[in-house]
Amino acid sequence: MDLIFLKPVFKEKIWGGNKLKEEFNLDTPSNKTGEAWIISAHRNGVSQVISPKEFEGMGLDELYGDHREIFGENLDDTFPLLVKLLDASDNLSVQVHPDDEYASIHEGEGERGKTECWYIVSADEGAEIVYGHNAKTKEEFIESVEEGKWNNLLRRVKVKKGDFFDVPYGTVHAIGKGIVILETQQSSDTTYRVYDYDRKDKEGNKRQLHIEDSINVSKIPHIDPKLNIEETVLGNSKIVKYLSNEFFSVYKYISKDKLRVELENTYYLMTVVEGCGKVSANGKKYDLKLADSFIVPSGTEKVEFEGNMEIIASRAE
Ligand code: ZN
Repeated sequence: MDLIFLKPVFKEKIWGGNKLKEEFNLDTPSNKTGEAWIISAHRNGVSQVISPKEFEGMGLDELYGDHREIFGENLDDTFPLLVKLLDASDNLSVQVHPDDEYASIHEGEGERGKTECWYIVSADEGAEIVYGHNAKTKEEFIESVEEGKWNNLLRRVKVKKGDFFDVPYGTVHAIGKGIVILETQQSSDTTYRVYDYDRKDKEGNKRQLHIEDSINVSKIPHIDPKLNIEETVLGNSKIVKYLSNEFFSVYKYISKDKLRVELENTYYLMTVVEGCGKVSANGKKYDLKLADSFIVPSGTEKVEFEGNMEIIASRAE
């Protein structure tokens, strides 16, 4: 089977910028583009197939519904994952996401919770994220939110290119100014905003906050998830496994000249985050450039990369 290449859906954001165009050569609609949903079947933004020809123009939701042979067996009813590139030219709101149960009760049948994780593609010197909070008890958390003691409450962490963060549901978080990330997440669009820096939009309105939901779903106290990063060195190349949780596994493939990756019997999502080159799979060879995103069909035993590049890959569960 052919690799399935996808076209992103862009989202303009109050905090967006122009790096997705300038650094990734993506065809963004404006210089306030915050997100490219590069592999998405979520109803709020469905990626379309670029190739192969037989599926050209089809949405990933339809492809997943009608061509199960590409994806394998024991599948969820709807496509479970969503991969985004985000360009934060300003701070994102401080937010938290629910788990599956809370999302389906409060946001409607079928909406998932959101566990996500971040690969830092680039970061300005000194760039920071909000990752967790310092409240020991729910009372302390509520008091800090109500009194706006953000500097005390929010835990800030400096980041650099190549860092990886696990952001399970219930983690208070925010991507900071000057950071481009690749986010792998459950296919969900449910965000509860805790704090938005009192910003106003073009019309002078502040964005809506969701304090009650945020308090309900935030994990208190925050405990840093422990990463067990596994590295496999193959000549000059390397496979990094960042994490594996109940929703997805995420890897980085670092190809120096050549890298061969043996795959499990399931489909994989892959995006080029650095460099360019070629990939071979099932007897065909494809050119790859920065930000190219594709699905490797289930049953593909291996992919072989040629060139110097880095790919973030994921698979469901
Ligand atoms: Zn988030």
